[in-house]
Amino acid sequence: MNEIVKKEVCCGCHACFNACSKGAITMEEDDKGFRYPKIDSKKCIDCGLCKRVCPVLKNKMSKNETKAYACYNLNEQERRDSSSGGIFILLAKEVLRRNGVVFGAAFDDNFVVKHIKITTEKDLIKLMGSKYVQSTIGTTYREVKDFLNKGVTVLYTGTPCQIEGLKSFLSKDYPQLYTQDIICHGVPSPKVWEKYKAYRIKKDKEIPTGISFRNKDQGWILFNMKFFYNQKTYCKNQTQDLFLRTFLRNICLRDSCYHCHFKKKSRISDITLADYWGVQHIHKDFFDNKGTSLVLVNSVKGKELFDAIRKQMVCIETNFEQALQYNSAMISSVKPDKNRDFFFEDLDKLEFDELAKKYVKRKSLFSRVVRKCRNVVRKAINKTSEKT
Ligand SMILES: Cc1cc2nc3c(=O)[nH]c(=O)nc-3n(C[C@H](O)[C@H](O)[C@H](O)COP(=O)(O)OP(=O)(O)OC[C@H]3O[C@@H](n4cnc5c(N)ncnc54)[C@H](O)[C@@H]3O)c2cc1C
Repeated sequence: MNEIVKKEVCCGCHACFNACSKGAITMEEDDKGFRYPKIDSKKCIDCGLCKRVCPVLKNKMSKNETKAYACYNLNEQERRDSSSGGIFILLAKEVLRRNGVVFGAAFDDNFVVKHIKITTEKDLIKLMGSKYVQSTIGTTYREVKDFLNKGVTVLYTGTPCQIEGLKSFLSKDYPQLYTQDIICHGVPSPKVWEKYKAYRIKKDKEIPTGISFRNKDQGWILFNMKFFYNQKTYCKNQTQDLFLRTFLRNICLRDSCYHCHFKKKSRISDITLADYWGVQHIHKDFFDNKGTSLVLVNSVKGKELFDAIRKQMVCIETNFEQALQYNSAMISSVKPDKNRDFFFEDLDKLEFDELAKKYVKRKSLFSRVVRKCRNVVRKAINKTSEKT
């Protein structure tokens, strides 16, 4: 066997890698910086397990009815340090209180994003906050299985494909496993992130002590990329920061994110967390620009965990369908930027600022006005020629 699933749909969840007991699968980085399984034919015994655990080859649907809530954490500091309404930290603390283990995406010492486990509240900060880069799963699925077999409570958090990958790897339900996914826009390339980081470090002439992709100094809606240094900070909002611009322009996401298999209303996770974009139009009282979460409770276990943290937040039931109107990433994949292939071709050739200037830099006010005028004139000409 030389391919588990077609490259363009492989989400890089590591289920096959974790499942192969022969060590025949390694996860290798491609030229865009994303990891894909590589099979060593000398070690492979053709048992087919890698295909059986691949979540892309399955189409799991939950039969449960989802309930939706608008929520935010009552603790101001925890809410400020979180990307949305700070609900993840409440779920995680509850599981730690039950002597459980929490898995999620963290920075390592070099600000590379990886899935890790934590067992104490003091380490919770490592998992908090969205990191807009694909996180490497490593052998965490195997670790989860070991914990579950020992009867330990586990909360595993990540993107929808990572949760489906874990569940598929485990292949049976464990009562003490809780899973929490997110509404996911798509995951940027770790190689693009490396390149941006190197550019920032060179420009700011210092190694950062901390990084936030969702700093709320200017509020929740217009969020900042913030680098913390010993004596100074770098802080630019999503319309100005070059990495956030590449992310939001959909130019550097993984191939599979453009036709994601896991975008659906019936999630198999217990809880789905998201930003409650548009909350100001639906529940005015829940908007103070400090971050409001959309929480989707997808299962009985999810309800039990959610009920356990309910006193620690402000919460109201909301209309699922109405909320989704402002968050299409729940059900639809974004379209790739038309220059994505050229962007990746230039990735090794250009410095990050040159790359961004070429592909995602905002046009000057003058050229935007010229373009608008040109469009108005073009439309007028088209209308006239339609009439004639
Ligand atoms: C790549 C990405 C894309 C997203 N796209 C959307 C979107 O389109 N619409 C929307 O409403 N919300 C999106 N979110 C979710 C949102 O940004 C918040 O993460 C979520 O609402 C939880 O917020 P919180 O305040 O409760 O907790 P926080 O403390 O802000 O979040 C912590 C949680 O995020 C997880 N996490 C952080 N980085 C990653 C990562 N790289 N991979 C996997 N898990 C990660 C941690 O494991 C932990 O579970 C996205 C998040 C990520 C990471």
